[in-house]
Amino acid sequence: MKAINEVKITLPSYSANEGFARVAAAGFFAQMDPTVEEIADIKTAVSEAVTNCIVHGYQDRIGMIHIHAQMFEGGLIKIKIKDKGCGIPDIKLAMEPMYTTCQTGERAGLGFAVMESFMDKVRVYSAVGRGTTVVLTKRILSRAENG
Ligand code: ATP
Ligand code: MG
Repeated sequence: MKAINEVKITLPSYSANEGFARVAAAGFFAQMDPTVEEIADIKTAVSEAVTNCIVHGYQDRIGMIHIHAQMFEGGLIKIKIKDKGCGIPDIKLAMEPMYTTCQTGERAGLGFAVMESFMDKVRVYSAVGRGTTVVLTKRILSRAENG
């Protein structure tokens, strides 16, 4: 399927860039005339995925985060968020609600659960030592469908 519009953003994993990534995604998809709620869902999911690249993928170092946002006919959107960080040894386990490798008690282990609840589909590809790619998809309803 060919995207009708797309944008690629590459940015270093400074925590300050999480806010930019979230707002950039919202800005890009605004042209599809989404509801306030749909935009909030996208921002939340992107925020969780980018935060994971920053705090887990690259941990104490700075690496590049690659974001590829696409829109397709029929209101379908796809956002790929990729890091070349440490990778995830067991993806199924990592995606379980409340599972976290964070030792400090700061994290709830709910990032993937949040992405899954706000998007239609979440796919995760990862290789230890090579990095992680999260693919988020959602269909934005047209104004008529939203009523
Ligand atoms: P929260 O998102 O609630 O702050 P969390 O980040 O630990 O906590 P999830 O976002 O659900 O929870 O991620 C679960 C676990 O998956 C993480 O603790 C981490 O071990 C692993 N993980 C997630 N994303 C990545 C990534 N990009 N690179 C490496 N490990 C990751
Ligand atoms: Mg998280």
